[in-house]
Amino acid sequence: MFPSLDEYGDIRDAVAKLCGDFPGEYWRALDRKMAYPTEFVRALTEAGWLSVLIPEEYGGVGLPLGAAAAILEEMQRAGCNGGACHAQMYTMGTILRHGSEAQKRQYLPGIASGELRLQAFGVTEPTSGTDTGALKTTAVRDGDHFVVNGQKIWTSRAEHSDLMLLLARTSPVAEGGKKTAGLSVLIVDMREAKGNGLTIRPIRTMMNHATTEVFFDNLRVPAENLIGEEGKGFRYILTGLNAERILIAAECVGDAKWFLQKAVGYANEREVFGRAIGKNQGIQFPIAQAYANMRAAELMVHQAIKLYEAGENPGAEANMAKMLAADASVEAGNVCIQTHGGFGFAEEYDVERKFRETRLYQVAPISTNLILSYLSEHVLGLPRSF
Ligand SMILES: Cc1cc2nc3c(=O)[nH]c(=O)nc-3n(C[C@H](O)[C@H](O)[C@H](O)COP(=O)(O)OP(=O)(O)OC[C@H]3O[C@@H](n4cnc5c(N)ncnc54)[C@H](O)[C@@H]3O)c2cc1C
Repeated sequence: MFPSLDEYGDIRDAVAKLCGDFPGEYWRALDRKMAYPTEFVRALTEAGWLSVLIPEEYGGVGLPLGAAAAILEEMQRAGCNGGACHAQMYTMGTILRHGSEAQKRQYLPGIASGELRLQAFGVTEPTSGTDTGALKTTAVRDGDHFVVNGQKIWTSRAEHSDLMLLLARTSPVAEGGKKTAGLSVLIVDMREAKGNGLTIRPIRTMMNHATTEVFFDNLRVPAENLIGEEGKGFRYILTGLNAERILIAAECVGDAKWFLQKAVGYANEREVFGRAIGKNQGIQFPIAQAYANMRAAELMVHQAIKLYEAGENPGAEANMAKMLAADASVEAGNVCIQTHGGFGFAEEYDVERKFRETRLYQVAPISTNLILSYLSEHVLGLPRSF
């Protein structure tokens, strides 16, 4: 049903086997309590799957992006939720690409072993939203520290992370200058910061995502935790976004495959009017349509991976992959619910949970409108709208 588009069959089999220890009952129980999948994340960490993008010299496995995409796709396809830990795989990319050698040696081996969790990424703020250049959190230099004040929202996994990558304003917007200048990236050690200027408050959401809002009140961060040059943080963050979009797209492809498999299984087995509902083209066609759309999105994900691995900066393909795959997973989820009739809404079938989980990717980490806006302006040459 799902022909392989890469050479990671062994990795996929191993990840699927691990995920088999975390069936629907496990996720349902967590979902009810809005609890973090600690055991699942521990198992992935111990098996080394979360460190595949870290080069061997820093303690990781040093595999290309396509391997990480295969791992995340397989997790979702098995019915698990990689949203709990996907950021541990790629947030370190900012340190890897822009950090000093000392920072790489200090952090990457710990992240690779899982001893250090860097899976909190503080960019979005309540008042600025998508308009990152308008963020208000400041980091003001005071001797050998930065003093941070402000607030972030939707900082996912902050309660389950030791470090946070924080984007804050270190110098005001210059008259007539770019809004995105003057932003800097800092590594915040939340183990020391909690209760000393950093407060984390969980936000309950429609799916179990461990997301939070974070408050900074004169938090002192050592100046040595600045990544790269002061004021260039927006550029550093941008360089990691394509990888993030490609990996989330791979997760959405995995979700779509889970929905399709589930829908086909139910359509073949459920009998109404004395025959399998799957005999009706009214049931078949939406599933077939969702399948075709998933396969098309999957091709775009692989095209984006190919370009990324060739050293290009495939903004258009990464964005299109993310949008098409997120659309394909929502469509497949919707079809899966419809195929299940009333049982699509029953917790024990996991369909409604997976649907709530995959719905997020229409909005985060970048919303569909912003992708369309990127394509309009940067690919099609239409006038800038904001
Ligand atoms: C569960 C969850 C987890 C998240 N995790 C993180 C995280 O770990 N770290 C982090 O920094 N952020 C995180 N986010 C934030 C996420 O990236 C943002 O929610 C997303 O980028 C949209 O920003 P916003 O919510 O501020 O929406 P807004 O910017 O307020 O936009 C609202 C709506 O208006 C649309 N819109 C805005 N401007 C335009 C325009 N010019 N043209 C057309 N449409 C427009 C948007 O597309 C959106 O649909 C998370 C969000 C959620 C819900």
